Amino acid sequence: MSIAENRQLAEIHHFIGGAVRRAGGQRLADVFNPATGEVAARVALGTTQDVADAVAAAHAAFPAWADTPPLRRARILFKFKELLDQHHDDLAALITREHGKVFSDARGEVTRGIEVVEFACGIPNLLKTDFTDNIGGGIDNWNLRQPLGVVAGITPFNFPVMVPMWMFPVALACGNTFVLKPSERDPSPSLLIADLLRQAGLPDGVFNVVQGDKEAVDALLAHPDVQALSFVGSTPIAEYIYTEGTKHGKRVQALGGAKNHLVVMPDADLDQAVDALIGAAYGSAGERCMAISVAVAVGDVADKLVPRLAERASSLKIRNGMESDAEMGPLVTAAHKAKVEGYIAKGVEEGAMLVTDGRGHTVPGHENGFYVGGTLFDHVKPDMTIYKEEIFGPVLSVVRVHDFAEAVALINAHEYGNGVSCYTSDGGIARAFARQIQVGMVGINVPIPVPMAWHSFGGWKRSLFGDHHAYGEEGVRFYTRYKSVMQRWPDSIAKGAEFTMPVAK
Ligand code: NAD
Repeated sequence: MSIAENRQLAEIHHFIGGAVRRAGGQRLADVFNPATGEVAARVALGTTQDVADAVAAAHAAFPAWADTPPLRRARILFKFKELLDQHHDDLAALITREHGKVFSDARGEVTRGIEVVEFACGIPNLLKTDFTDNIGGGIDNWNLRQPLGVVAGITPFNFPVMVPMWMFPVALACGNTFVLKPSERDPSPSLLIADLLRQAGLPDGVFNVVQGDKEAVDALLAHPDVQALSFVGSTPIAEYIYTEGTKHGKRVQALGGAKNHLVVMPDADLDQAVDALIGAAYGSAGERCMAISVAVAVGDVADKLVPRLAERASSLKIRNGMESDAEMGPLVTAAHKAKVEGYIAKGVEEGAMLVTDGRGHTVPGHENGFYVGGTLFDHVKPDMTIYKEEIFGPVLSVVRVHDFAEAVALINAHEYGNGVSCYTSDGGIARAFARQIQVGMVGINVPIPVPMAWHSFGGWKRSLFGDHHAYGEEGVRFYTRYKSVMQRWPDSIAKGAEFTMPVAK
């Protein structure tokens, strides 16, 4: 079945062994257009058998793909990158239709994904390793980085293109074959990606997609031929994936949730800090793992900061994401909207000062869309639920602290450690912040410090379970097994058995 026919049916299925494959089971889930609240399509929820079929296809494709020279693998990725450029807007439109984020933001997401493909195109150089000539007695020693086999990726709803692309370009470049289990809330981009990889010349079975939910994830976790799992999503599920995956002997990297702070020092440029907070808190309706959800106002900054934030938060252009002047779109589902509004109620109940209330926000013509307006709380305390938990919506909390040391202690005490930012014009403060803060990704006068493709992405504490960050050189290490080879030739072999520990001679 072609992808076009698949769309006509408004049912979204799997991609296995180089073609769209109808799901074996009967379970389907609604996929919404969050801007209107309408059901846009239905996605098949994969069964254990669907997963077994996808893993079997990937397993069968592995030997030939692993044996393909890295330069030839890279050439397919170069072609894929060209196709991504041609279909940049198609992918972005699919993201906006199912996720709700504004189109320009969706385009940015696709660009950040393409950057990882560009990085992965350098795989011949990335797989180059060390060689030591003549470690002793006519022996040379070098290393290999070999692919693992079939690897799987399980991804969240908030970046249906970029997060899968944190994973599979590097995994494929390293010679692995891949099974992607995208979010069931915005599954369509995964099928366009699969089709573009096919058009780029990727052999059948090297990249597969199984749509679904917990059943498909559990089947991947238990499958003996899946060697490694990359997961991105909420912390409880990340912890589950890490625990279960490692229990089954797999290599696992599981990136979880976040609560990202932005410290505003008294010497910060306030205009820049306000712009940064508004964009980072309300961009993508706060549905970013690197969204800033806490402003830490140091000294007397809050008295100047809060009125300016309130004015901007209440005048955001909230629209259907396809409208050209939209700054913020809807949340992903009605259930998620209800959850975010529940947090706002909880904040009021626990005594935070609600400065701007986004509940009940409607967009004319889209009354059933899943919109929440920009919400601002002041006087938020560390023991409040809205401070402790990830809300994942357009809700910004202001916490007031006396000085820099209190700001650092506050952030370091939080269970999450994904991203953080500090706005200051003092170099000494900036340096101390970067060194002392217990967070994986740090911005100095940068609100959302998402590392570029050739660096690596990952948080600390309960924002990441596992030893490797995603993409960049960490990604290459995650998706390869290290081997050391020591070699000599018969004419340099001394006669007789040696019973002592071999040492360089
Ligand atoms: P989620 O944890 O609900 O879902 C993530 C994936 O896990 C999906 O593919 C989903 O189908 C699957 N899943 C859900 N419940 C499961 C279960 N009980 N058992 C097995 N699998 C299950 O996350 P989400 O709501 O899609 O995404 C938002 C979350 O992702 C936020 O917490 C956000 O911070 C996090 N996130 C983190 C990063 C990061 O890099 N750290 C990046 C993006 C998103």
